[in-house]
Amino acid sequence: PLSPWQASTEPKFSPARLALQNFDVNYKVQFGELWPSVRVSLLSEHKYGALVNHFSAWDKAVSELERLQAQEFVTQARRRGQQEAFPQGPGAPPRPPAARWPCSPNLRCYTFARGDIGRFRPPRASSLGLLDYYLLDASSLLPVLALDVQPGDAVLDLCAGPGGKTLALLLTGCCREPSQSGQPPQELVAALSGHLTANDISGSRARRLRQVLRSYVPQDVNHVQVTSQDGRMWGDLERDTYDRVLVDVPCTTDRHSVLEENNNIFQRSRKTERQMLPMLQVQLLVAGLLATRPGGAAVYSTCTLSHLQNEYVVGGAVEILANQYQIHVQVEDLSCFRHLFQDTFSFFPSCRMGELVLPVLWANFGPMYFCRLRRLT
Ligand code: SAM
Repeated sequence: PLSPWQASTEPKFSPARLALQNFDVNYKVQFGELWPSVRVSLLSEHKYGALVNHFSAWDKAVSELERLQAQEFVTQARRRGQQEAFPQGPGAPPRPPAARWPCSPNLRCYTFARGDIGRFRPPRASSLGLLDYYLLDASSLLPVLALDVQPGDAVLDLCAGPGGKTLALLLTGCCREPSQSGQPPQELVAALSGHLTANDISGSRARRLRQVLRSYVPQDVNHVQVTSQDGRMWGDLERDTYDRVLVDVPCTTDRHSVLEENNNIFQRSRKTERQMLPMLQVQLLVAGLLATRPGGAAVYSTCTLSHLQNEYVVGGAVEILANQYQIHVQVEDLSCFRHLFQDTFSFFPSCRMGELVLPVLWANFGPMYFCRLRRLT
């Protein structure tokens, strides 16, 4: 509690103002001369992407998006990867190691071109009664793509509410039994078999997640197991189980914090919660990696620029796993993302571990940090 002196003399800044002051101090140090342009972008209109729902009758929506000259950035990046893996021209040998698209398949997401600040119309129910696309910050697909889900994988989404990334995971068509591989999308969809577990500690966020699934996924296909547990306990609940685990943790949600006064983690009453975030994040990542099977992979992601909540958390979790559990984890190189998605996003060039999408005015997505970790033992 504040002393009477402090209470009367401390200026009463709003939470959003406090957030900006905090970022001005910390991010100037982290990002140097990049900070002013990132700052202005955070305060400017946020850009969205339209994730196509191929569980619905999506062809109308896709024609409409193409008429608006929106661009499908996932296929664009895949093409770039393929062209470079198999260079054209006489005598050009293929380069097999780069040939495999290192990303989860089947996702399609449209964005407007660089500098175009057009808006998408709200999602609409198609003839099947399901919504035709899901609007999200397009950079939040990158952690899902980085998870590189493979057909038949058992997948855990540890902090899943309200469900944008869970829906994207379902749309990969991969969270299913291995025996059903090789089928065309519609049958493949029908073959989903409960291999996706989506968890959120908050009952209301878990309810929103169920609502998203009801609005986007046919009932007979929606076999997602939704739970509402403390994700930090997952290492005790199901150890060494999942092929892929997404750990999309609570963070200072930088863009929200500088723009919205409501539900702002910079409210004075939430100071302790804010200070404890890195510890909670480490605990969640450790739990996620304990739930991953040896040989499997986890992706850690946040929507903050803070190194303390990004790289430091990854470093801390790797150390705890090695020292307390004798589990060895390797941070994987995702620098190919910088190259593959260069037309759509602006990346911070100097992350030591993982990748960070920086908000810039020509592509006002993010911030989005993501890092893939492979469990070796
Ligand atoms: N992945 C979500 C999406 O794409 O829609 C966003 C997740 S949000 C960044 C973080 C979520 O973590 C919040 O919904 C919050 O309720 C949840 N959370 C916070 N603490 C948690 C815990 N200990 N265990 C599980 N979930 C937690």
